[in-house]
Amino acid sequence: CTEEEQSEDYLFKVVLIGDSAVGKSNLLARFARDEFYPNSKSTIGVEFQTQKMDINGKEVKAQIWDTAGQERFRAVTSAYYRGAVGALLVYDISRRQTFDDIGRWLNELHTHSDMNVVTILVGNKSDLKDLREVSTAEGKALAEAQGLFFIETSALDSSNVAAAFQTVVIEIYNILS
Ligand code: GDP
Ligand code: MG
Repeated sequence: CTEEEQSEDYLFKVVLIGDSAVGKSNLLARFARDEFYPNSKSTIGVEFQTQKMDINGKEVKAQIWDTAGQERFRAVTSAYYRGAVGALLVYDISRRQTFDDIGRWLNELHTHSDMNVVTILVGNKSDLKDLREVSTAEGKALAEAQGLFFIETSALDSSNVAAAFQTVVIEIYNILS
């Protein structure tokens, strides 16, 4: 087939993981639809959303999976992780417990998917400056120790949201192309 047809063959599964209420669903809503839900419940979660992205002039599709709230019961199934080549590992910079739980999520990710899954550690809710419980330096240090990319985002004010998803997809593209 032609070069143009081939460029549409890129479809990468990316999973959102992290504790309940860290902002996973709103990161996806902001990225895919430029929407934000101030009082979102787990019900807004879609199974996955396919987002077209332009990487080096090539059309790449990211199939981004969101939980439907099952992380609240520590019941994210292996099917959720199956085939994932990228992951956004999200915590809330205003709730230290969500940062302390990152190790557990990393274990779960590595149990259920390939060790080489491209992973970015995402400190969300960077707009909550006065409520910050996890410093940027701590986030960076954990990411470095675990070999992860790192970014702080706000689904509320949009900062770095596209960059978080793009970092993962560009890296996957570079590895696989
Ligand atoms: P999930 O359980 O990880 O999917 O989290 P949600 O996306 O449902 O968000 C949980 C709550 O945090 C909701 O009330 C959101 O409005 C709020 N939230 C999500 N992202 C942000 C953010 O970047 N800043 C602020 N201030 N609130 C956020
Ligand atoms: Mg959710």
